[in-house]
Amino acid sequence: MRYKTYTAKSFKDIPQVKENLTDEQIFDIEVVSRVFPFKVNNYVIEKLINWENPLGDPIFRLTFPQRGMLQDEDYYEIAKLIKNGESEEKIKQAANEIRIKLNPHPAGQKYNVPEINGQKLHGAQHKYKETILFFPKQGQTCHAYCSFCFRWPQFVGIDELKFAMKEVEILIEYIKNHPEITDILFTGGDPLIMKTHVLKQYIEPILEANIPHLKTIRIGTKALGFWPYRFLTDNDAQELLDLFKKIVDKGYHLAYMAHFNHYKELETDEVKEAVQKIKETGAVIRTQSPILRHINDNPDVWAKMWKEQVQQGMIPYYMFMARDTGAQHYFGVPIVRAWEIFRDAYKKVSGIARTVRGPSMSATPGKIRILGITEINGKKYIALDFLQGRNPDWVGKPFFAEYDENALWIDDLKPAFTDKFFYEDELEEMLNTENNLLQVI
Ligand SMILES: *Cc1c(COP(=O)(O)O)cnc(C)c1O
Ligand code: SF4
Repeated sequence: MRYKTYTAKSFKDIPQVKENLTDEQIFDIEVVSRVFPFKVNNYVIEKLINWENPLGDPIFRLTFPQRGMLQDEDYYEIAKLIKNGESEEKIKQAANEIRIKLNPHPAGQKYNVPEINGQKLHGAQHKYKETILFFPKQGQTCHAYCSFCFRWPQFVGIDELKFAMKEVEILIEYIKNHPEITDILFTGGDPLIMKTHVLKQYIEPILEANIPHLKTIRIGTKALGFWPYRFLTDNDAQELLDLFKKIVDKGYHLAYMAHFNHYKELETDEVKEAVQKIKETGAVIRTQSPILRHINDNPDVWAKMWKEQVQQGMIPYYMFMARDTGAQHYFGVPIVRAWEIFRDAYKKVSGIARTVRGPSMSATPGKIRILGITEINGKKYIALDFLQGRNPDWVGKPFFAEYDENALWIDDLKPAFTDKFFYEDELEEMLNTENNLLQVI
């Protein structure tokens, strides 16, 4: 299949859209896509979406902008501007004002920019001791966009929010200076949007640097879900698989972090074949997804997804909570409900699939897991712990919040038994200190 993409400007040309959506539904997509990024491709359209009932289809909802992603007042504002035939400039300005209201930069990411010799590495993030995140400049887009994506500001061009770094040499220098770093995680966007020869320009210097404490190369990607031909028929598919093999042969653990949101993405012949090709290189595929209303907020969907992943030889890794940005009001699943779904799904799978952890919130202090609802002296509480902490010592200590069925995020929770969560003072100090642990020693 030859890669063909459609965006806000061209989606009306998709034959399935013309045939199956009403004018009103098409207009809704047009309105919402003025605010949120929209890109879809021919594989998603032809192989994944069930066009008999598009608005009820999880993959349609995953890729096409939804009416409910905008609050009514914002929807009507953009709709009016379009209907009145206002200038692109005016619509763009209104869209930008709405975007700013949607918390485009959550989870204190500005605090995690590493620094070496007084130079900031804007294309990297070092939040947890062992793992450095790297955003290669040419990897800042994807084969299609997820409607819920928390990286949405990168795709709509709010430029100062773009993480991207070209100089891999500076990155290598930083890793060499940080013996605690064992993992580098290539992320984006989607790093596998890059042609293999571009990806090589990042990976090969890292391999050649022979950094003894660097053990794992991770690639966070949705290529299997959105474009499995990346490993099958793209003209540099074999070269990519050869690069994977080279990484493994050099003694690194190559962790392919696959993003899948629904079992439907695992069912095509193409994805199955691509999974086997990746595994043949010696890479290990781990899977992760947020839990999303309208897409996968159902334990049966998760149980079936984890089982199918295990069947194909992948390892379920994380269930995330939808971040507090963008259309969280539309996609967000409350903490209590997310835990129920996680538990109901977890109960249904064998121990082999119980490698998955979650539901987890990637928040400013760290990755906070919802351990569950518990009752103490007849009163309900929410138990939590850290899977990753800005301070590694926070990990694995249960703590408690007041029961709240509507809370969507850690910021919505009130501490139980005390007036602050145990980490709060320390966190505040960390964020206030310039010389915090994220800087070069
Ligand atoms: C999730 C995450 C990592 C990786 O954490 P693991 O638990 O090792 O998978 C690294 N950095 C950031 C900022 C993250 O959010
Ligand atoms: S593939 Fe990942 S980065 Fe790209 S839109 Fe989806 S969630 Fe966002």
